[in-house]
Amino acid sequence: MGRDLKAIKWFVDTQLLKDQFNPAYATFKVTSKCNLRCTFCNPSYYSGELGEAPTERVKKIIDNMRDSSVIVLSFEGGEPTSRPDILDLLQYAHDGSFYIMLTSNGYRLMDEDFLTKLADKIDFLHYSIDEYHWNVKSLDYLCRFRKYGLKVNVQTVVTRFNIDKLEEKVRKVRECGYKILAMPAVDYPDSKVKLAPDPEKFYRVMSDLKAKYGSTLNNSWGFINALIGKVPSRVTSYAVTVYPNGDLPYPDDINGEVVGNLAEQKLKEIMNSDKVKFLQKKMLEDQARFEYLHLQTASFNSVRDLLSYAVEMAKWRFTGKA
Ligand code: SF4
Repeated sequence: MGRDLKAIKWFVDTQLLKDQFNPAYATFKVTSKCNLRCTFCNPSYYSGELGEAPTERVKKIIDNMRDSSVIVLSFEGGEPTSRPDILDLLQYAHDGSFYIMLTSNGYRLMDEDFLTKLADKIDFLHYSIDEYHWNVKSLDYLCRFRKYGLKVNVQTVVTRFNIDKLEEKVRKVRECGYKILAMPAVDYPDSKVKLAPDPEKFYRVMSDLKAKYGSTLNNSWGFINALIGKVPSRVTSYAVTVYPNGDLPYPDDINGEVVGNLAEQKLKEIMNSDKVKFLQKKMLEDQARFEYLHLQTASFNSVRDLLSYAVEMAKWRFTGKA
């Protein structure tokens, strides 16, 4: 089924038929290797610990998501462009089944030849830019991606130390007509340096920026409100995470447990398994601990918010302007 038809079906299933656990977004960690070692990053995402599947296995994983409800397939890592076969994999996935995103720290984004080849294989480029990726300067040259026809969503990690610089980043992104997604640093129990921003302050800054810059700031109101505990009464989970070998931690990689492997089973089958149904029941009972992925899609529970998001994304898709 094509991605636009899937989107319509997803809308009917989740909004009209009230299916609370229908994944529309898959974050696929195609490698656990990275050229950087960011302070806030979970070491298993850069140390190689979670491995990297061979090309054919990755293609099998992609195939097993094609006929599922997943509309947006995001290639992440580690650093996905460190895979020599990344262009082949993106091309393979980009057959109209999904909207394709690639998240990169910019490692290969200075390579003109790579950018030219990349442009017709993805729909959106997620570029991680912040002090911790040592690439804030690249915000001054962001508009250069227009030359390649790439639509850029900057992803930036907000910590207690750089929160006051967020508006300047949003402003620079807006100048190019792109979008920016702000993600709070998470302090893991054994983190030596505490980076997470104060939730109240983060909420104030994000609300002000959303009111001022509108859709340039790609965080949903559902996400922003949840920062101060205003979580939706209806528990939903519209996103899944996929590890490099195809393992699927559910409901997410922080609180979840592995419920199946996408190199061996279709996503539809895994989602219908007893184990997943049990975990979904548990999410409802516990009112779920909302992780970033679930919060970002939480505003889709409001038809009004969902429609305004869809209109914005369609505008961006066809005109390249936020
Ligand atoms: S670039 Fe991304 S994957 Fe690599 S260490 Fe930093 S946060 Fe982790």
